[in-house]
Amino acid sequence: MHRPGFLKRFITVLFAALALSLCAPSFAAKLESKFGAKEIEYGEEAAAQVAKDNKFSNNADDIKRVQTLGEKLAAVANKMQAVASYGSAKITPFEYKFSIIDDPDINAFSVPGGNIYVNTGLLKFVQSDQELAAVLAHEITHACHHHMIYLLDKQASLNNQMAIALLASMLSGANSSDLNNVLMGVQLIQIAKINGYGQEAERDADHGAIVYMKEAGFNPVGMLTFLERLSLKPELVELGIYRSHPMHADRVRAAKALLGELKIPINRRATTDAIKAEVRNNMLNGADAPAIYLQEKLVYYPAPLADKTAAQRAQNAADIINAALDSGLQMRELTSEPAAGIIIARNKPLITIIEADAKLMGKSLPDLTKSVTTAIRNVLWKQMVDTVQ
Ligand SMILES: [Zn+2]
Repeated sequence: MHRPGFLKRFITVLFAALALSLCAPSFAAKLESKFGAKEIEYGEEAAAQVAKDNKFSNNADDIKRVQTLGEKLAAVANKMQAVASYGSAKITPFEYKFSIIDDPDINAFSVPGGNIYVNTGLLKFVQSDQELAAVLAHEITHACHHHMIYLLDKQASLNNQMAIALLASMLSGANSSDLNNVLMGVQLIQIAKINGYGQEAERDADHGAIVYMKEAGFNPVGMLTFLERLSLKPELVELGIYRSHPMHADRVRAAKALLGELKIPINRRATTDAIKAEVRNNMLNGADAPAIYLQEKLVYYPAPLADKTAAQRAQNAADIINAALDSGLQMRELTSEPAAGIIIARNKPLITIIEADAKLMGKSLPDLTKSVTTAIRNVLWKQMVDTVQ
């Protein structure tokens, strides 16, 4: 379409954009002076743009979930430093705000000053609050480690895409806004949402996220399982947040190493919806009886021993079963010696059932041993079928 004066306007805007690029303020001079108020100012412009371009979800449960998890993490990030390998760990408390964008892409992003966005597609993808917390903590780290200030410093000049985005924004009626702010808003969103912050910043955000999660009482294994599952789904990754970061293996490796350093046991079943052995406290013959459940079915009641309570034995057995399930155990690797009450995984004793356990279930020792083995095999079978699909 040709509107009168269109070309003239086009050229004017292009020149304005170029002029801005040439006299863009040098961020190199004292980056720290940009922390806080400036970040909030930039962030607000970007947030206004995000609000204009997106539809927010109004699902009250989802909003409450994201806010509750996010605020816990934000409180920690506002008072505790996590070492920054990129950006700066200098604390500038922000008023974090969490919004949900109605969009099926698996994506989340943040703009400076504490505005954090997650897509509905991401909410569907995460399998636990722990995984969602990992994503929120990652985005919080981008903000509290001032990543954007450092990034802008690197990319102080405009690129062509930017000029086009600016032009589009102006022609679509944003011309009453202050040019510089529109420019900043568009640039920030482009970095935050589309291009990502770059490998160093991503690595730092993963690292900070694990540190903040631990401090806030979350299970940081959620970061590992989230990244692992993302790396298994390249077709999904293409669509969303990590499309610009083809280094999932690196991120998974780094997360695993940090969990090891922090002595956090890697129990993937705690942060995913994979089938797990659970201990439930039942009543049996009028007394408390901790029981082991798999797939909502009672497996057995561990009886107390001289040196261990029933609860300790139950928790111990559940942990062992979950670790075995995590280890990629195959059905043929799980056997048993029913007469001795021993369940064997990869030729090593996994769990020992005793006569007292069998008695609580009203079964013989060989029968209970066989039925516990079958219950675990059923999970392995289900996992195998699920993996094939
Ligand atoms: Zn990131």
